[in-house]
Amino acid sequence: MIRLAIFVFLVIVVYKLLGGLIKGVSVSNRQEVPADKSTAELVQDPQCGAYILPAQGVEARVAGNTYHFCSETCKEQFLQERSDHVD
Ligand SMILES: [Zn+2]
Repeated sequence: MIRLAIFVFLVIVVYKLLGGLIKGVSVSNRQEVPADKSTAELVQDPQCGAYILPAQGVEARVAGNTYHFCSETCKEQFLQERSDHVD
């Protein structure tokens, strides 16, 4: 009886693993978006992760690097968090 339970358990585990693999493959295929010229100009907001056009965002220069934020709030949060880590 215990062997049967283990066998059933293994079947379920294998089934779930296979299902996860198939799901992962299909998801990764969908995320393979070809490089587009229209998205090449987008920059990522380092604070919230949103992609924005540099012209539409808020710009900040920190230690020689230029960052673009979707909003003034993100910029302020980023600068604040950064200054907390600086000695
Ligand atoms: Zn943002």
